[in-house]
Amino acid sequence: ADSQSNRAAVQATNDDASASKLSCVKKGYMQDDYIHLFVRKPVRRSPIINRGYFARWAALRKLLYQFLDCERHTEEKGTKKQILSLGAGFDTMYFQLQDEGKAPDLYVELDFKEVTSKKAAIIETYGQLREKIGTTAYISREKGEVISEHYKLLPVDLRDIPKLDDIISLANIDPSLPTFIIAECVLIYLAPESSQSIVGWTSKTFSTAIFFLYEQIHPDDAFGLQMIRNLERATAWDMLKVYSSFIEAQERRRIERLEIFDEFEEWHMMQATLLRGLCNQ
Ligand code: SAM
Repeated sequence: ADSQSNRAAVQATNDDASASKLSCVKKGYMQDDYIHLFVRKPVRRSPIINRGYFARWAALRKLLYQFLDCERHTEEKGTKKQILSLGAGFDTMYFQLQDEGKAPDLYVELDFKEVTSKKAAIIETYGQLREKIGTTAYISREKGEVISEHYKLLPVDLRDIPKLDDIISLANIDPSLPTFIIAECVLIYLAPESSQSIVGWTSKTFSTAIFFLYEQIHPDDAFGLQMIRNLERATAWDMLKVYSSFIEAQERRRIERLEIFDEFEEWHMMQATLLRGLCNQ
């Protein structure tokens, strides 16, 4: 059941995510110097949505930093690392990490061609993005591809597992290097068999990988159970726990002063049930 309209609706969730991130940036929750380039119609989100996005962004960032800062050195590979983002949408993490001098040796983003084409066009249009991927980068709007030494954007339907194998060689991914795989609000749009195959593919393909899954799940429904079961040695946290014990108290205090917030009950309910709605608000 992959009608055109369904596919378009799934892709549109990316525009909603980008607009929400921009809303957070404008209110001072987080810094992202690039997301505005990807949003055509800025919107103002409610404080509860902003806070939810902030928590998601801060949690991913903290884990990414832990991964990137970890000095795991092997004789033959040095400390090279990779990030693979599944259904990356218009995420700008690579450009931010470049600014911070923290970008890994290879950052690969995958999404539907309709989305990667738009992203490639935007990268080509804006000098501040182009300069981050280097002047020798190959950019094709038609193919929906950006290929540079350290950053690659490629079109693929994630349900097509053999194609994912091709991506490994196309993007020059080294499956033996430590790899941080991001699936942020993506697997929920797939049939359970497909998300299972993707998770299975990553564990078969990579020898040292962290799989960061952020999803609107109920830990006791079919999708939630499957996600938790699938990930070897997985830890699942609800966002209430992430917000109150993983994000620094100082950061919490800072963002709690940004807007009047009186939706406490709703916030607790929403976060404890893992954020239904935040991705596609
Ligand atoms: N990960 C990004 C973020 O958190 O900002 C984007 C999230 S957006 C809600 C979901 C993304 O997954 C969309 O860009 C959509 O096109 C992509 N996606 C969903 N199903 C996909 C599939 N089968 N193949 C490739 N991309 C897919």
